[in-house]
Amino acid sequence: MNALTSTQAVAEAAAITIPQGAVFIGGQWVEVPGGGIDVHNPATGAVIGNVPDADAETCARAMVAAREALAEWSARPAAERADFLDRLADGFEAHGEQLARLASSEIGMPLPESRAVQASLPAKVLRSTADIARGFAFEARDASGSTIVREPVGVVLGITPWNFPVHQIVAKLAPALAAGCTIVLKPAELTPLNAVFVARLCEEVGIPDGVVNLVTGAGATTGEALVRGGGYDLVSFTGSLKIGRHIGAVAGESVVRATLELGGKSPAVVLDDADLETAVRTTVKNCFVNAGQKCNAPSRLLVPAQRREEAVAIAAEAARAYVLGDPLEDATTMGPLASEVQRDKVLGFLEAARAQGATVHGGELVAEDGLFVRPAIVSDVAEDSPVVRDEVFGPVLVVLGHDGEDDAIRLANDTDYGLSAEVWSGDEARAARVARRIKAGQVRVNGVRTPPLPVSPFGGYKASGLGREMGPFALEEFLEVKAILGDPDLT
Ligand code: NAP
Repeated sequence: MNALTSTQAVAEAAAITIPQGAVFIGGQWVEVPGGGIDVHNPATGAVIGNVPDADAETCARAMVAAREALAEWSARPAAERADFLDRLADGFEAHGEQLARLASSEIGMPLPESRAVQASLPAKVLRSTADIARGFAFEARDASGSTIVREPVGVVLGITPWNFPVHQIVAKLAPALAAGCTIVLKPAELTPLNAVFVARLCEEVGIPDGVVNLVTGAGATTGEALVRGGGYDLVSFTGSLKIGRHIGAVAGESVVRATLELGGKSPAVVLDDADLETAVRTTVKNCFVNAGQKCNAPSRLLVPAQRREEAVAIAAEAARAYVLGDPLEDATTMGPLASEVQRDKVLGFLEAARAQGATVHGGELVAEDGLFVRPAIVSDVAEDSPVVRDEVFGPVLVVLGHDGEDDAIRLANDTDYGLSAEVWSGDEARAARVARRIKAGQVRVNGVRTPPLPVSPFGGYKASGLGREMGPFALEEFLEVKAILGDPDLT
């Protein structure tokens, strides 16, 4: 196949041509023999592209290219690296609509959500990271007079999932490049086309050869070859707890740093003085972004026990209002699940909950052979039930009753995860007090969303992972710290 043929999904607005059948190594599109992996639109089942299933030799080539580019890239002034990030942000802005449509076609995310999360947010992350890098103290004196130098950790292996694919790539790429690292990216098998698009943008804006490399393929083969093949100084992984544990263990064997952004089972704590209707409706909305396939979805709604029935009724009504359909249609508010595996997993959780006596509003499969599942509200369920404890990663919201503030905090923290949480109260000081008692990396008060400047740290306590993304904390993840004692030279 010609390495530069346009995909069906972007044909109508083809400002950027998406290479197919090739990976991006050392600034070149390198064709990889073999049939490759077909990429499907989950809304229609149509094949919208094909990418290589890269072998171990190709993976090793990518690592070598990133290593060869490291010295020159890391020696550039931080401000110069930041300028490249701004240029990449310009590229995202110029081609944002094309990228959003491609991402919607690949993931099934409704177009307005894609515009916000896959195009606009990455541009903001690139620009804010560039600004942070320009003002960052890469060298400073400590209290003893020693010079503390922050140096790039080296070559980064970035492995990302399919649910917010562009954002997750940029959340690694931006701080890694700002820090002076070079990177090899391995996107999810379900959503590689948007990653190819990002690599094309890197090429278009002139990021030097080898600084950004992209290898596509299946996790079990290409991902495993990359992780086991070594040659990187840090692996930055976003994905499931199971694979994160594995990657962390392999990296640990070589004493290589691993940052792990893993799953969640986030609570929305509604206190007795909150506006129940607003809290429940907003939680439903936040939980069902991208059909609930969102690591920080508030998927456990904890309401005062005496108002639980009322909360379930409000949630069920809000869930029924979703319009399922083609993510590119204006009327659509929920798209399909990303794959058959996802669909079967979600339906399995609901079936098991029903078998245990839970009440399930919604949750029907729309068409036997399709991937559309109506959003579900689950109640009358035991605290130790799998649907309460495990990450469903689909349009499923569980409603539990609490007996007051302390009990709500107990329930909120009664999870293996700790990625994020939401607190609702009519008294902001009380909400802030409760937020401090929740074991999670981010707590959102009274429905606040991601601010326009996306620099607040994101990452998990407990099994939700190790490390942080976004803002200065993200930059720190990609730096080594060196103390120079007796150095007279710092200006
Ligand atoms: P996943 O199955 O863990 O896959 C994540 C990535 O790892 C994919 O690129 C996958 O490739 C690759 N992979 C799989 N096996 C591998 C191996 N043995 N070696 C190296 N790489 C391997 O996760 P997912 O299903 O794509 O994503 C959903 C999960 O991500 C959820 O648990 C969600 O909570 C989590 N997530 C966390 C965050 C966060 O910031 N904390 C954000 C988003 C998602 P293939 O796609 O080819 O299998």
